[in-house]
Amino acid sequence: MKRTMIVGNWKMHLNTHEASLLVHRLDQHIKTHRDLEIVLAPSLLTLQPLSREIDRRKFRLAAQNAYQKDVGPYTGEVSFTMLRDLAHYVIIGHSERRMYFNEGLETVRDKVQAAVRNGIVPILCIGETKHERAGGETRRVIHDQLVTAVSNLTPDEVEQMVIAYEPVWAISTFDGEIAKPDDIAKVLELIRHEITELYGATAAQAARVLYGGSVTADTAGSYLALPGCDGVLVGGASLNYRQFTAIVDAAYQIHHSQADTNG
Ligand code: PEP
Repeated sequence: MKRTMIVGNWKMHLNTHEASLLVHRLDQHIKTHRDLEIVLAPSLLTLQPLSREIDRRKFRLAAQNAYQKDVGPYTGEVSFTMLRDLAHYVIIGHSERRMYFNEGLETVRDKVQAAVRNGIVPILCIGETKHERAGGETRRVIHDQLVTAVSNLTPDEVEQMVIAYEPVWAISTFDGEIAKPDDIAKVLELIRHEITELYGATAAQAARVLYGGSVTADTAGSYLALPGCDGVLVGGASLNYRQFTAIVDAAYQIHHSQADTNG
């Protein structure tokens, strides 16, 4: 069985001191589970200090973004090359980057390629907006975002990837609309179907597919239990050590109940 992945996206929260405090609390409360992979995505500024502080048997680090050129006159940017020794993963294509920083299909594709070129595993986020969903365009959006993003990769490179289905309308809507497990299951299946078409069944089975969108300690179990769901990407709830620890505990329980069922 694949390890279940829990990714905490801290977005633009927590300065160096606060980030360090959260890592300390998580370290106290989360046990080392060899069946789980726990990934923390702090701001770029705190990646370096945290890379020295974390217990690497327990946590891995992800960057939230980087620039697709390796080096050059790009004031204010940080390249994937610079992150090589700091981050194991990088989040690419998050809807907040697509929305607020105008990252389109080609930019996301170039970033995925740059990450892979530099030995960093992409966590590719894809998902439809509320408007697209209402217009019945979910399948098309998933197809376009996924197919373009991986178009320069080899099957072996796709196998290593992590793909997170994040319906934009369900992100940070804790008191509002949340995605129904059945709807998510259909899209997770669609993602694997698209990869199978492009790169074959081996790549589709090996790539990890996550769900993200207002996941909390109360809802994590229902998403993690879905067929084909290899983990969750958690935003808001990952800033609270009790919530994040409870999500990790839920993942542990579900992983083991599935392992028992599968023999
Ligand atoms: C995210 O940042 O990818 C995310 C899913 O956020 P939230 O859990 O806050 O909806």
